[in-house]
This record gives sequence, structure tokens and C-alpha cells, in this order.
Amino acid sequence: MGKIEAMIKLQGKTLSPGMGKGEAFVYRDVLTRHDEFYDIDEAQIDKELARFAEALIHITGVLDDLAEHVEEELDSNLAEVFRAHSMIVQDASLQAEVEKEIREEWVSAGSAVRTVFRHWERRFQSMEAEVARQKGDDIRDLARRLVSSLAGVRGHALEDIPPGCVLVANRLLPSDTIFMARSNVAAAVLEAGGAGSHAALFAHEIGLPCIAGLEGMLDNIMPGELVLVDADTAEAIVNPKQENETAFNEKQGQRNQSRANALENSRKPAVTKDGKPIKVYANVGCVTDTQVAMDNGAEGVGLYRIERAYLGRQLPPGVKALLKEMQVTLEPARGLPVYVRLLDVGADKPLPFLEQFAEINPSLGLRGIRFLEKYPELLQTQLDALLQLSADFDLHILVPMVTLPWDMKWVKELLNQIAMNKGISEVPRLGAMIETPAAALSARDIMKHADFLSFGTNDLTQYVFAADRENAAVDAYFDDTNDIIFRLQKMVHDDVPDVPLSVCGALACRSDCTARLLECGITTLSVAPPSIPEIKQAIRESGGAFEQVKQQGAAK
Ligand code: PEP
Ligand code: MG
Repeated sequence: MGKIEAMIKLQGKTLSPGMGKGEAFVYRDVLTRHDEFYDIDEAQIDKELARFAEALIHITGVLDDLAEHVEEELDSNLAEVFRAHSMIVQDASLQAEVEKEIREEWVSAGSAVRTVFRHWERRFQSMEAEVARQKGDDIRDLARRLVSSLAGVRGHALEDIPPGCVLVANRLLPSDTIFMARSNVAAAVLEAGGAGSHAALFAHEIGLPCIAGLEGMLDNIMPGELVLVDADTAEAIVNPKQENETAFNEKQGQRNQSRANALENSRKPAVTKDGKPIKVYANVGCVTDTQVAMDNGAEGVGLYRIERAYLGRQLPPGVKALLKEMQVTLEPARGLPVYVRLLDVGADKPLPFLEQFAEINPSLGLRGIRFLEKYPELLQTQLDALLQLSADFDLHILVPMVTLPWDMKWVKELLNQIAMNKGISEVPRLGAMIETPAAALSARDIMKHADFLSFGTNDLTQYVFAADRENAAVDAYFDDTNDIIFRLQKMVHDDVPDVPLSVCGALACRSDCTARLLECGITTLSVAPPSIPEIKQAIRESGGAFEQVKQQGAAK
């Protein structure tokens, strides 16, 4: 694609439906930004040396603060990592190399940092020992911090995203979504992102129209250009003509009207044609989600992803901070059942303060509960905070990425132990997320240590089909509506017929699959807040017709 001044139409694929328009906000990874990497002339050398020195002081201060807080709140081993980072940036030979690069090559401080750090990163990465390779990741992380500091970025670039704009980015990482959630962005267009990715889920949950698969787009959209995003048809128009904008506005108006009609019915309970009440809960990550969910008629919170309390921080929250965050997020649902999931990080959801522990095959590594098994202090903090929360909320706890019954046994024992130490006799009910084939196949044994089960169909699909949910190249294999996924759910229901079963993966938001899910024995659907009216409607249309078809079939 060449430089664009005239109108351009882009066709991608839908990550989250809806329509939005606004001025483009172009967001690039700091190491791919061009504005910090430039040549200089001799007269600018001293200025660049001074900028580098200033960035070093800033970063050393940040790292020392991190080390101190992590020591107090989490883990002294981890604090050592930040101390080591601080020592690396203060290393005299590394500093001398950067200064030499500025002086002799006549390049900006950013360019010099990038060159020297890349050189060191490669040296470490080519070494055999795992510990040396990890050092390579440390070096890259430090380069990113230094370049951000040189660019004057003190927080996250998305912190300043103006409301009403269209975000134009390569991809959306979980840590980016924290800032998106707090803003009022009209739509997002991405170069990369799979249908089952967290970016897709997140966008869906906050009702952010989002298209991905627009390769090369970042070089063709200028900041401030008007972009119309129709994520229902996966089309974006940059610099539209007047007639495009008029047609867009009309379609958006009609869309809003039909949503308003569906909303009218959504505060009433959803009962199938054959009289079965089905609970419709919401998936939430922040208080705005919970508020929208309640306005849309949610009967509870079926999945509170607490990752946002962690991903948006430089440091893990302590008991007090976590409790406060959960109370604020769940306040609009007080009095209703709420299901809080334990921290589910690792793989595609790295923690900012643990990024350096990279794994070669992270999706099969320390994810969900396995991660908490490695860092039990993190789990302890959560269980402490959750037990306090249960005094004011109808609380249920979900355990992510359970594979073996042992995962549940371990959490249950720890929860009971902490409750006993605190003199709490009413312990919240504990449920397992069924997200791996192994968990689906061992539901009976898992239930020895659990009170209920919830299907995380996004991960279940990823692991059943061996198709990375974040990798658009294998989207054709990532099919959560495939018969196999329903059969697995039915199998679990047949194995443990009296156990309450819910679905909280994106499949629960597919109104074309609602009847099928109910046939598998699902009694609760937890969906993105904007999907509640549509799913309630689909439940009301389910059941009777299916029974009739079955009876007709039997009569033949
Ligand atoms: C899932 O895997 O379906 C799920 C609900 O969890 P997450 O998408 O947060 O991994
Ligand atoms: Mg999951």
C-alpha cells in the first residue's frame, strides 16, 4: 500500500461487532517508533549524552522503587530481579558503549540504546544456558524502558488516548486494554489479532467495535484522519466521502434503534419455551462493565476477570488494594451472585512485573492456576481478600485452567486453611473452569473438590484443536462452534448430571448456539454485557421448538 491521502477502504475480519467513527489515534510499540531513532550532527552530541544520562537516572529510580515495593508486597526473589535490572543499567561498560555509539556514530540516544542493547540481547540469546537467555529478555525490557523514558513517556502511551477517537494499532495486548477500558474510544482497527484472542474478548465485553487482519495499515493511516469503522461487516473507511459518511450514520442510527428495542425486554428473566429458567450473568473486568451489565438485565456476575487489577500496575496489589478494587468493581451487583476468578495470567497475559520469566511454549506452560502454584504468595493475597469480600457479597470463586483434580484440591485446602485461621465458618463456594480436555475428562474427580463447573470455551477450543487463540493464521482451526465442543460439554453433563454447569467463554454470546448449549445441560450463560438482551431473547426462543422437533422425530 502506498501513502494515502484520498479515501481508502480496508476489509478485515470482525473481532467485536458494532459501529464507530472518529479521528485516528495511531499507537506504536515504543521500539518501533521512528521519532526516537535519528542521526545527529556533531553539535548535538552533548545534548544526546545529557538526554541519555537523564533517562538513566529516571529508570534507575523506577527500578529501585519497584524492587522495594515488590520486596514488601510479593517476593524477595522477584525484588532481586529488579535490583539486577537496576545494576545492569548502571553498568559502566554498557553506559560507555552507548556513549561511544552517540559520539562516534552521530546518532540519537534512542538509536544508540537500541543498537547497543540489541547487540547485548543477541549475545545472551545465542548462549546455551537458559539463565543467559533470560538475561537477553531482561536487556530488551530495559531497552524498552530507556527508549520510553527518552521519548518522555512516563506512563502508558494509551493513558492519553483522546475520547471518541479510533485506535489504530498493530495489536492490543492485555496490558493495553486496561487503559482502553478507562477511555471512551469509538472503535479499534488492528493489524493483527485472532478471533479467540483476549483483544477480541475484551473488545466484545466493553462493546468496542473492533476489526483485525489489516496488515500494513499502520504505514497508511495518519494520526487525525477520519475513520469509519463498521465492525459488523469488518470494513473501515479512511478519509471517507460525504456519501459514505451519510450512509454510515443512517446504518448506525438503525442499529441503535433495534438495540434499544431489545433492551426493553432484557430486564425480565429468560425462560425457555418449555419453561426452564436460564440464568444470564455477565463477564466483567471493571465497574463500568458491571454497571452496563446491570442496566442490560444481568442476574449476576458470572465471571469477574481480576487480571485488570494486576495488569495495569507496576506492582501486584496487596490484600487491601485488591479488596478495594473488587468491591468497587462488583458494587453494582451487590445482592446478586458474583463469581470471581482467581488471577489468570501467563502465556498471552504476561504480568508487567514478571515479564522476564519468558517460556518457550507459554500456552502449555505456567498458565492460570499453575502460575499461582509457582507463586503461592499471589494466591494467598487473593484468598485473603476474597474471604473478606464474602462478608458483603454472594461470592463464588472460580479456579482458572484446572487440568488435574489436584489443582482444585490444593486451592480448596488452602482456602479452608485461611478461613479457619481467620475464624470464618462460611467459606465461599469454589468452582473449576473446564478449559482443558483433561479437565473435561476428569469432571467426576474434579467435583470431589469443587461445588460447580464453568466451561471456558475459549481455552477449551484452543486446547482441543491445538490452535493458538491469539494466532490468526490458525483461525480456521479455532472453531468454538464445532460439534466436538458441544459433545464435550454434554459428556461432562452426563458424567456429573446434578452439577450446575455454566459457560463463560465467548461461545455463550453466540445467540445462534444458545439452544444447542441448553441441550447440553447448561443452566447458566455468562456473557459480555452488551450481549445480554440478545442472549435472553435467544433463550426465550429455545426449548419448546426443540422438544417439538424431538417429539415429531419420535412419532415417525
Ligand atoms: C475461556 O477461556 O473461555 C475464558 C472464559 O477465560 P479467558 O478467555 O479469560 O481465558
Ligand atoms: Mg480461559
